[in-house]
Order: sequence, then structure tokens, then C-alpha cells
Amino acid sequence: MSKAGSETLLCDRLWTNARLATMAPGAPYGAVEDGVIAARDGRILYAGPRDEAPAFQAAITIDCAGRWITPGLIDCHTHLVYGGDRAHEFELRLQGATYEEIARAGGGILSTVTATRNASEDALFASADRRLAALMAEGVTTVEIKSGYGLEQQAELKQLRVARRIGRERPVTVRTTFLGAHAVPPEYKGRSGDYAALVAGPMLEAVAAEGLADAVDAFCEGIAFSTEETKGVFDAAKAKGLAVKLHAEQLSNLGGAKLAAEMGALSADHLEYLDETGVIAMAKAGTVAVVLPGAFYFLRETQKPPIELMRKHGVTIALATDANPGSSPLTSPLLVMNMACTLFRLTPEEALAGVTRNAAKALGLQDEIGTIEAGKRCDLAIWDIERPAELAYRIGFNPLHARIWNGQ
Ligand SMILES: [Zn+2]
Repeated sequence: MSKAGSETLLCDRLWTNARLATMAPGAPYGAVEDGVIAARDGRILYAGPRDEAPAFQAAITIDCAGRWITPGLIDCHTHLVYGGDRAHEFELRLQGATYEEIARAGGGILSTVTATRNASEDALFASADRRLAALMAEGVTTVEIKSGYGLEQQAELKQLRVARRIGRERPVTVRTTFLGAHAVPPEYKGRSGDYAALVAGPMLEAVAAEGLADAVDAFCEGIAFSTEETKGVFDAAKAKGLAVKLHAEQLSNLGGAKLAAEMGALSADHLEYLDETGVIAMAKAGTVAVVLPGAFYFLRETQKPPIELMRKHGVTIALATDANPGSSPLTSPLLVMNMACTLFRLTPEEALAGVTRNAAKALGLQDEIGTIEAGKRCDLAIWDIERPAELAYRIGFNPLHARIWNGQ
């Protein structure tokens, strides 16, 4: 390399002849033409223009032939671990039933709850592993996985153990979220407050005792839990030192996002019915808006999240698959990017930020991942594309050339 200082730096891997979409603040996409990336011990040692790079001695040098490198993609909202599927419900909805009607009739989430309770840990691992493979094939290096299909202590713990196991056994970073307050289980029909108290009490106690969760989430909605019940769960989570996030304003406006922001939530997710008061509260707290176009699309919603208001008030916007069997059986981050542009009018750059830098913030990992910068973990995706906008532009085409996790 040119322009060395006096010394030569040792590194494990050196990627040369690459175009970088670092997604660091500054130029569009944080772009660097003719860039190099050096990594050592799984961390980025240098990322930037070739002609400003120090001299490196690399164990392995990879010529990228002009390909684009982005940060490894981050799917910051999934329900990847569950039993069964809901293809039959899909058929019912096409015969006219709504999501809410199916839920009130005891279908929907509850059919997945039964299948999840009855599944072994190995079976849950095997089915989640196939979905994870689809995410990784499109460059995902970090995935958040929620529980919420057990709705009783042992089954919730089982889901979280499977999620942790995925993180141990696969080359991907897993963040786990306890979503015991996802739905009211049949045993507590009509007694959502009693169940929410159970979640906030003994269930959370058991989850924390085993160290199974990085964060706690709830579904604040007419068909699930009130803001008051949500607050009880959040208070308990915060007392345990756990981060909180919230499914809010998906089907109606209960003021969940405002509550989440006021309680310092990492993110509020869905947000189709979010109003300006909620947007302002989120901006003030730095709570990330995670929009989930897959669920919007699959449920054929018409109310769109207030993207323009989010931009106006400077709310950070992230995107995720929301991979789940009922409302978003989607395991393609690239399609999510396209949907966010076509359905919600995000720009391709906002869409890429939504699955990298901003998704990292939604997980509280912004100092570790999400951009290509010296000091961060070396999680990268290398693409056969001519410009970064191609990632959001195409439909059903995967231009991934290579995925690098932890420098490998
Ligand atoms: Zn969700």
C-alpha cells in the first residue's frame, strides 16, 4: 500500500479494489471509491480510501474486483423461532376473515402457540435454522429473535434457549428478546392484566435468572395489552437492567410509542397509526422507529407509518423482516428494502441505513456494528452490484457475493 507512515501493520485479512458503502455519516452511503478494509481479530483495523491507507502485511488478501461492500445486514425484529406454520390461516384470510377476527376467534397467534408448546427444542432449532439460512444468504450477520409463542414459562424459556443456541452454533450474532406479553394465552382469556402480571413477575424472573434475554418487548394493542399493562412489564424489565422495545400502533393508536419513548425504549416497531405526539416523543428520547413493510404488505394494510413526520422530527428509521408465521412469513431483507421504498417511499439510501446503521441502534449495538469503521466488528456483505441503490431496486434477485462475519 502507499502512503505508509514508517511501519507496516499486520492484519488477518485485507480486502482491496473495493467500493465501500460504509454507511458512516457524511457522504451519501458513506461511499468510498477504490477502498480497502483491513481486519484483525474480527475487528476493522482500517476502512477507507486506498491512497490514505497505511501499509499492511496481510495473512490473506482478497481482490474484490470493484465489488461493493456494505456493512453486514442486521435484521432487528424477528420471531424466527416457532412451531408449525399458518398457511391455512392465509387461505382463510383470502376467503375474507381479518387478522383481528381470526385472533378473536382463538386462531392466529394461538395456533402457533399450540404448535410451539408441543415442539421439542431440536425441532424448533431445525425449523428456525432454515429461516436463518435464508437471511444469511442475503448478507445478514446479526439477527434479533423474540420469544412470544410459548405464553407460559417453560415454553417461553424453550424459545429463548433455542435462540441462544442459534447464536452459539451458527456464524451470526443473535440478540434475544423476551416477548412473553405477545398475546393473552387461552388460559387467561379475558384476564390480560393477570397474565401481564405473571409476565412481569415470575416469568421475567426466570428469564433473567438464566440470562436468556437482552431485551423485553410487548404487544401494545386492543387485541393484546393496554399501555398500563405494558408499563408494568417495562417497569419490571428495567428493574432487571434489561432494555425495552415495543410493538406499537400497528392496528390502532393506543399511545404505546409515546410510552415506550418516555421509558427509554430502544425502539418502537410497526407504527402505522403513530401520530405526531408519538413521533416527537420518539425523537426526543432517541427511540428508533422500526417499520415492518412485510407485515403491512401481508395484512394488506392501507394506513402507512408517518415517514414524513419521522424525517421532519429526526427520528431514526430502521427496517426489519418481522419474520413470523402469521403476519409476515418473510425472510428476505432485500425484499424488505424494496417494500420500504415502494410502499413507504423511503429512499434506497434510507432503506440500506435501515438494515445496517439504524438497525444496530434499534438493538443498542451502534458502537459495535452497523457501519464500516475502524474499531467496529468486521461484519460485511460483498455484492455484485454497480451501485448501492440496486439492493433496494431489484425484486427477487440476490446479488450477494460473500458474507463476512466476525472477520471470517
Ligand atoms: Zn413482531
